[in-house]
Amino acid sequence: MKNDLMKCRDCVDLLLDYLDGNLDEKTQVDLDEHFSACPPCVNFLETYKSSSEVTTVLRDQEVEVPAAMEERLRSFLREQLSAAEPK
Ligand SMILES: [Zn+2]
Repeated sequence: MKNDLMKCRDCVDLLLDYLDGNLDEKTQVDLDEHFSACPPCVNFLETYKSSSEVTTVLRDQEVEVPAAMEERLRSFLREQLSAAEPK
């Protein structure tokens, strides 16, 4: 039984804040625990990181990176995780 563990989709919602270090300590620990037990999420975290770096580079160049782009990235990852998550 792993009902107390975070679901993969919850993690996706928290990834941005996780990478920015904006999560409270408990949530951060919960996420770390989930990642340690969920290799697929680690893969997505890496994907997300590299994607975030792209948006950061774009920001540095003062190209407008609308929130919609981040939202699309989240949606994409959610779909990927839905497909990967065992029922
Ligand atoms: Zn997961």
